[in-house]
Amino acid sequence: MIIKEKIKLQEKCSPVSVKEGEEIGVRLLHELRQSENGIGLAANQIGINKRVCVINVKEPIVLINPKIVEKSKEQFIFPEGCLSFPDSKIKTQRHQDIVVEADNHEGQLSFSANSKNINDAFECVCVQHEIDHLDGITMFDREFKQEPMVRGENAPSKIGRNQRVTLTKGSESKTLKYKKVESMLEDGWTLSI
Ligand SMILES: [Zn+2]
Repeated sequence: MIIKEKIKLQEKCSPVSVKEGEEIGVRLLHELRQSENGIGLAANQIGINKRVCVINVKEPIVLINPKIVEKSKEQFIFPEGCLSFPDSKIKTQRHQDIVVEADNHEGQLSFSANSKNINDAFECVCVQHEIDHLDGITMFDREFKQEPMVRGENAPSKIGRNQRVTLTKGSESKTLKYKKVESMLEDGWTLSI
């Protein structure tokens, strides 16, 4: 049963032991497989406020107490959806490259959207989306605003009309320039995370 109340998804999740995390991971993957087009799920989306999430793009990945330890300055925009908000589609701003550590993985895991394989972009966005859930952050907090209000050194890098964006519709997917995206979103293209 997937939680669809925004208020419940705004709480931070607590750290968990690897053993308990693995059990939660199994439940999450089971729930994810029953969803329609879902590629990721966080424990608080099924009412468990513990730091566990799963991603299933190229292969199933369980992350226990994950944290992003490096992220690129380069960002890109992506049409996102969420299993907790099935009626919403928004454009978000995400880091192009991230490095993640988790208690159930030795060493670091790298994810990059800067790849010819479209699944790498899905995976990179999905990991950021799921770790956000564990911190009580939803995709709405990452929404790309056409004209960022923040200026100066800490402002997000401006996204050009030629920046590349990835979209899916059913089993089809495409990477294309941002200036061409707008009309396609109206035509039913999206991404479910
Ligand atoms: Zn979500």
